[in-house]
Amino acid sequence: MGEQAPQGEARTRIIIVGGGTAGWMTAAAFGHFLEAGYEVALVESDAIGTIGVGEATIPHIRLFNQALGIDEDAFLRATQGTFKLGIAFDGWLREGHSYIHAFGDVGRDVGLCAFQHYWSRAARLGWAEGTGAYTLNTQAALAGKMHRGAPYTPQNVPVMPYAYHFDAGLYAAFLRKFAQARGVVRHEGMIQRVERDGQSGDITALHLADGRQIAGDLFVDCSGMRALLIGEALGAEYQDWRHWLPCDSAMAVQSPRVADLVPYTRSIAQDVGWQWRIPLQHRTGNGRVYASDYIADERVREQLLGGIEGKALHDPRVIRFVTGRRREAWKHNVIAVGLSSGFLEPLESTSIHLIQTAIARILKFLPGKQQHQADRDAYNRQFAFEMERIRDFIILHYWANQRDEPFWQACRAMTLPDSLCQKIDLFTASGQIHREGEELFSEVGWFQVMANQGLLPRASHGMAQTISEGDLRDYLDLLKALYAREVAQYATHEAFIARHCAAQMPM
Ligand code: FAD
Repeated sequence: MGEQAPQGEARTRIIIVGGGTAGWMTAAAFGHFLEAGYEVALVESDAIGTIGVGEATIPHIRLFNQALGIDEDAFLRATQGTFKLGIAFDGWLREGHSYIHAFGDVGRDVGLCAFQHYWSRAARLGWAEGTGAYTLNTQAALAGKMHRGAPYTPQNVPVMPYAYHFDAGLYAAFLRKFAQARGVVRHEGMIQRVERDGQSGDITALHLADGRQIAGDLFVDCSGMRALLIGEALGAEYQDWRHWLPCDSAMAVQSPRVADLVPYTRSIAQDVGWQWRIPLQHRTGNGRVYASDYIADERVREQLLGGIEGKALHDPRVIRFVTGRRREAWKHNVIAVGLSSGFLEPLESTSIHLIQTAIARILKFLPGKQQHQADRDAYNRQFAFEMERIRDFIILHYWANQRDEPFWQACRAMTLPDSLCQKIDLFTASGQIHREGEELFSEVGWFQVMANQGLLPRASHGMAQTISEGDLRDYLDLLKALYAREVAQYATHEAFIARHCAAQMPM
């Protein structure tokens, strides 16, 4: 960025409002990808600060960092990061039950027939173990092992996809340096007022508390739950999904680094909602997601502090939210990215990913001074589809439970969205999983949650029906042994970090 604009054309001025994870990810990507013709500035207020949570990711974040040319080990050192092979769901089906939704494959498909059909036949026969027994990432996670996941080789080493846990504040700081080095201009100050064009209704300038004015052509609203431009200024409607996802509060607290640096996120079901535990190099992130209709903050505070290892590093912080999305994430000349565009609780670590896909979509449409309603409509349809399918996946975790508490009983009794009903009906009838378009979660992702939360298909693919029971046992045992042999060769997560990407511990 920063070269001369083509002669005779004024540059398009892009103003990013907000310097949280969304703001600095957007700024870093624009700084890296946008050529002459664009100038990019970011406005943030030190007085307001950022949400400061958001520590677990999914493997796609690696593509974002790679596209920007960021060195993985340097990034992990800078953000006190650790590796993540999946998420352990403790007690979600019932107390004492646990499974891991792991990244990557489960078992191996055979020809036309997906692995889930072999598994479900064995489950109906009564002897299949949970899907984790046949999953490389789960076995590695439970053994506390890490490997960079080489692609398939002639020796047939399986792929092991991974993501990261990191300190979101440090990631934003890391990207800020990156973006500023590529020409993004930062303005610190409080936006007090927004100016709009009397005719078009587009935003023309931001007025800061100290009197400065910042004019722009395209505004990216990364102002978090305040939704300063898309919500307050433009009044974009918010679709409320609390009837499907009743949690409306979170309480977050950090505790010291734990001895056992597990390479997975823990999501532990509670009487109301759930608790997360995320191990970083320098500390542990803990938090609780809950429904305030069912439990008082004070009770959650006691439970949260009673459930962490070591002493809390600060007072727990309460965050209120409304699950849902903007009907239009792009309205007039404003595109909302991050929390201003909507919120889905962090159960499957999808918020940072949604920032990444929004950035990719903006770069694809690359709005200039002239913007088209057809582009806005297409963008908004894609945004809606993506959010709704992730929403369905999260609802599934709540609905497919066998717990006794009133909160969980109410989750079981809810009326599901049609799109989710179709998935569940298809899987329970024939073991098939159908994924449409650019849905985020893969067939094996859906399979792991449905199978481990108690849904069992009544039938399997014809090919899985014809194999003898003895051969089926041999096949599943072989997979288990193959993965165990692989994992035995890997380094421990601790040793892996120490060797490649250990951050300096704070004194
Ligand atoms: P914020 O971080 O709130 O940033 C807003 C910015 O706007 C700030 O810089 C602020 O200064 C600026 N601003 C606002 N108003 C003004 C003004 N008037 N003038 C100037 N500047 C202004 N995501 C994941 O991917 N994984 C997770 O594990 C995860 N866990 C989460 C747990 C919880 C409890 C919550 C609530 C969210 C979690 N998220 C997670 C989501 C993640 O935290 C956010 O998606 C991410 O941090 C993006 O936030 P943001 O940048 O949109 O907003």
